[in-house]
Amino acid sequence: MVFRLSELYTSIQGEGPNVGTPTVFTRFGGCNLRCAGWACDTPYAIFPKYRNEWRRISWLDLYDEIIKQPAQNVCLTGGEPFLQPRSALAELTTHLVTARKTVEAFSNGTILYPDWAVDNVTFTMDWKLPGSGEDMSNPIRLMNLNRLASSPKPQAIKFVVKDIDDFYTAMGLWGQYVKGKTNITTYAGRVWSDDPERLTDAQLAEWIITHQMPWKLNVQMQNHIWNRSQRGI
Ligand code: SF4
Repeated sequence: MVFRLSELYTSIQGEGPNVGTPTVFTRFGGCNLRCAGWACDTPYAIFPKYRNEWRRISWLDLYDEIIKQPAQNVCLTGGEPFLQPRSALAELTTHLVTARKTVEAFSNGTILYPDWAVDNVTFTMDWKLPGSGEDMSNPIRLMNLNRLASSPKPQAIKFVVKDIDDFYTAMGLWGQYVKGKTNITTYAGRVWSDDPERLTDAQLAEWIITHQMPWKLNVQMQNHIWNRSQRGI
């Protein structure tokens, strides 16, 4: 029951509820999706050709490495972190919480979140929109949303918006499923791309304001601080 670990480093959390917080990024290898609508920003954590870079590591050895990192907040990310062995993830998380670390997870929402995770982890669940090229209607995501709504922890969902059609789709999903779930904060961020015609932070901010959506703009601060092609940011 070992993890596949792509990388471990400390940086500043650039998005979600802990934006700006020094954070230990625990990036696992492997993802069950292949978002075709844009270039995934962590190809080295999803494509099999990078598998020889992924370290196989037990939960206890990973715990020891995380504890030595210089930050209190721990982000489980990928790829898709919940593809990793469940019992090992449970051991790692509960021991980190016991050591007074805060634990968050960035996840695509397509794998059912277990009770121990919902009780101990602040999720940022990515809700895929048509621009991603992935299926936005996966029923597991709705089940996860309802689990997050009953969590004792603050929780978040994130829409990654490619264009105005994605924005309107996100408005509809939010109105139907998320509105009224008071412990869930909604973030919207634009797709990062080198296309000069791409959506900008300013345009997305304007749409959020114009439509009076109670959402937070997710700017992916790390990409403003560092070169986004750099690893370990
Ligand atoms: S779900 Fe996330 S990690 Fe997986 S392919 Fe899509 S953008 Fe990349």
